[in-house]
Amino acid sequence: RYEWQKSAGLQIEHLTARETLQAEPFVSPDVRESLFFPNDWQVENRRLLFALEKYAELNCIKIIENAEISNLLIEKNRIIGAETETEKFFAPTVVLATGAWTSLIKAESFILPQVKPIRGQMISFQTAKRLFQKVIYSPRGYIVPRADGRILVGATVEDVGFDKSMTDAGTEFLRETALEISPGLGNLEIHEKWAGLRPFAADGLPIIGAFAEVENLFIATAHYRNGILLAPLTAKIMAEKIAENLDSEYLKIFSPQRFRAARAT
Ligand SMILES: Cc1cc2nc3c(=O)[nH]c(=O)nc-3n(C[C@H](O)[C@H](O)[C@H](O)COP(=O)(O)OP(=O)(O)OC[C@H]3O[C@@H](n4cnc5c(N)ncnc54)[C@H](O)[C@@H]3O)c2cc1C
Repeated sequence: RYEWQKSAGLQIEHLTARETLQAEPFVSPDVRESLFFPNDWQVENRRLLFALEKYAELNCIKIIENAEISNLLIEKNRIIGAETETEKFFAPTVVLATGAWTSLIKAESFILPQVKPIRGQMISFQTAKRLFQKVIYSPRGYIVPRADGRILVGATVEDVGFDKSMTDAGTEFLRETALEISPGLGNLEIHEKWAGLRPFAADGLPIIGAFAEVENLFIATAHYRNGILLAPLTAKIMAEKIAENLDSEYLKIFSPQRFRAARAT
């Protein structure tokens, strides 16, 4: 990891055990060495969504919730909208940002790329004040210290279909992960538990761009473990494509058409 991050031009420092404990006094005294990424930051996803909602409100963008799209409406190889079991929505441009559920949507004879759910369970602890400065990774998982004293522990990676439940085994794995990084956390009760489904494409890469077969139909998903951090860049690429017809090089790399090519060979 040190080598490839260095060769990619990212800042990275090798810390001894003593230096590690100076930087993060609450990590395990068993630590032998660590890598320090000065430019590694974090995003509070709950606040990010509040901000997005606020942005939508201020810019008269309507968010329609609890409307499960079952079918895309396609006319003469052109998208004209989408429908739920009870309602039709018409639009000249449609972007599928439907995560792990994308492949469940019907699109007449046109087949959408396969995206499958990979469950991730997380737990959190609550402390009165912030104990850690940075996100801390171990070979098993990671802890994320939030400004309000919460410490998130992630995450399981499970191929179990559309099942968002928490399991005892998952909770135990996460507790052990946290305690390995910082044994002192063993004195705390688990504050929250939750699970989500990450969207995963057959080759593990995002799917971003237009479909050659259906005009004005776009897709932006399958960011798997990095969809929050990559959301601003994906949104920028999609907006530039739709509004200005600008083609980012990423649209080529992550195009949905790559699965068509793979199927044909
Ligand atoms: C435990 C866990 C930890 C994670 N940690 C990180 C992290 O540290 N950093 C990071 O960058 N990413 C992380 N991720 C991954 C990140 O959450 C995903 O990559 C990201 O949410 C995917 O975004 P998306 O918009 O494609 O899908 P989603 O966020 O799943 O959004 C899809 C939306 O579409 C809606 N939808 C689906 N089908 C339909 C339909 N038919 N009609 C209408 N609406 C529909 C869903 O209800 C949902 O609201 C984590 C994920 C998990 C589970």
